[in-house]
Amino acid sequence: MTSDQLLIAPDTALPTLRGAVAGLPSYVPGRRGAGADIAALASNESHYEPLPAAAAAVAAAAGTMNRYPDSAAVELRERIARHLGVTAGEVAVGPGSVGVLQQIITGMCDAGDDVIFAWRSFEAYPILVELAGARPVRVPLDSAEGHDLDAMAAAVTDRTKVILLCTPNNPTGVPISHERIEAFLQSVRPDILVVIDEAYVEYAEAGSGPDSLALYRQYPNVCILRTFSKAYGLAGLRVGYAVAAPAIAEGLRRTALPFSVSALAQKAAIASLDTEGEMEERVAAVKQERARMAAQLEAQGWKLQASQGNFLWIRADERLQSTLVDAFDRAGILVRAYQGDGVRITVAAPDSNDRVLQLLEAHAA
Ligand SMILES: *Cc1c(COP(=O)(O)O)cnc(C)c1O
Repeated sequence: MTSDQLLIAPDTALPTLRGAVAGLPSYVPGRRGAGADIAALASNESHYEPLPAAAAAVAAAAGTMNRYPDSAAVELRERIARHLGVTAGEVAVGPGSVGVLQQIITGMCDAGDDVIFAWRSFEAYPILVELAGARPVRVPLDSAEGHDLDAMAAAVTDRTKVILLCTPNNPTGVPISHERIEAFLQSVRPDILVVIDEAYVEYAEAGSGPDSLALYRQYPNVCILRTFSKAYGLAGLRVGYAVAAPAIAEGLRRTALPFSVSALAQKAAIASLDTEGEMEERVAAVKQERARMAAQLEAQGWKLQASQGNFLWIRADERLQSTLVDAFDRAGILVRAYQGDGVRITVAAPDSNDRVLQLLEAHAA
């Protein structure tokens, strides 16, 4: 039988997907760096190899893959709790902070509830909200590429269940100050969960963003979201966490897919927290490169907002964007293009950063 004979008649009814799923964008495989001369600057990963202690912990745990992991992730939650000065009961872990965010949205939202977030912000937000049958409410960024908290507060309705704040914001790099978030928290109803997504917090200059733990202690409707994927260099292992009021954290743990954080990921995350000093040295080097690049780009004539993440954001109209994307493609540099809005470039090792600077010089205004 040839594959043609397997084709079903065109009028045969197939099982249908939920409307929310049919409406989602198709998955576009991320462009991966293949050759040695490809610079992978599209995903804000760490360009460093995993911390030696994390790699050793994974190697040591590899022999136990026949066993399920600790579904409650007790040891990891206790280690995170000690790191932050909270209790393990206030910590929920998941497969990346995207996984934890899915637990948050599905744990909090009924069909038709509103989830408010800035736009542009993290691509995963609208997808997770729509998958849960909730309603994404996008509030445009302000003219300085930051969150417009007044407009976000004005977008609150009776149906608002969750508000997502991303600081520093992906993809623009702009943080939200402590004072502005505090004023915002005073103005929104205490029954709305305000998630502060701090995926890039390790890269932010001290004082540029919020003291989220202090806000959490003062406002129990705050939920802090963090990840081991970026500064800690464990993007491939999938582990992130939330800090929330004990009853909410307990709900997030119940919402999790069983065994979703592997034993390897749990061990690597613990080892990473144990050797945090090495992570901080790497972060310092990236911040130094970020400053060097920003200064050179400014000298070239580019107008950028100061980024507090491990990436730079170039606002670009349709035309400039396609010029830049073509040029980066030809140069073997993978960057992230956001249709009609701009281009995001991960700050990495000095040699690939130099290639970026050289390319952008040719396109400066
Ligand atoms: C990269 C990123 C995350 C982290 O994703 P993981 O699932 O932890 O790998 C979360 N939020 C934002 C804004 C990000 O850019």
